[in-house]
Amino acid sequence: MKLNRHVRDIVRTYLTIAMTDIELDDPRARSDRREVSGPFDIIGDVHGCAGELETLLTRLGYDVRWSGTPGTASVEVVPPAGRRAIFVGDLVDRGPRSPDVLRIVMSMVESGAAFAVPGNHDVKFLRWLDGKDVKPTHGLDRTIAQFEGETKAFRNRVREFFTTLPIYVWLEGGRLAVAHAGIKEEMLGRVSGEVRRFCLYGETSGETDEFGLPIRYHWAAEYRGRTAIVYGHTPVPAAGWVHNTICIDTGCCFGGNLSALRWPEREIVAIAAERVYMVPVRPFGHPPLRPGAMV
Ligand code: MN
Repeated sequence: MKLNRHVRDIVRTYLTIAMTDIELDDPRARSDRREVSGPFDIIGDVHGCAGELETLLTRLGYDVRWSGTPGTASVEVVPPAGRRAIFVGDLVDRGPRSPDVLRIVMSMVESGAAFAVPGNHDVKFLRWLDGKDVKPTHGLDRTIAQFEGETKAFRNRVREFFTTLPIYVWLEGGRLAVAHAGIKEEMLGRVSGEVRRFCLYGETSGETDEFGLPIRYHWAAEYRGRTAIVYGHTPVPAAGWVHNTICIDTGCCFGGNLSALRWPEREIVAIAAERVYMVPVRPFGHPPLRPGAMV
């Protein structure tokens, strides 16, 4: 009898581990977090602007505590009671301190003080970390240079972090979703190659414009969903609602602002860039409507 119980305990332990793995490996379960409620502070594209991120977090009531020396520095971020941050992605590239931005965001996600979704720049940087052949353009060269002084252990931690992020998060009983470049209502609750592409790049035509950049369309102008969509990806002069969507990328790395949307208050908190880290190739603003769009 004793042996039986022992065997049963072992079986139960293995089953529990196996089921936990299935849950963690299910990308749909990682994105469908409708059971999670705010209040939230949703933060736009940081792009290596660690100084502005620290200022913004402090303004929002988060306590940012660094310890250790450069190279071995670690950071702890204590949120105001009951609040959590959500990062819309594009943590790296263009700005001066991408490793420090990662230290802050990884620490917050690991402690439960934040959620994060990846941006197209983060995914490309992950490909570089994985040893893939990627073009070091659009500020990736700076991130690569900044990572020269970082340890293998830190690089591995960053790889692990980006690999496990949900491609979008759907929250608050379905009332709110956060995705880097946006998401369509019918994609909520699903994860596929198409959903992943839309979350990372938005609606694109597959062609490039006169600046050599992919042509984007203003998907938000056509959005009629009941879920509020908060996204970044396209720098705009100021965050403003378009139907039930809001772009909170206000181009900090280009000398604009780093913006946060307080939810459910729907207030914008914006910190001015300390300087222009990179000159934008394309002017700020929403992209044009998709040809034939019904708005
Ligand atoms: Mn971006």
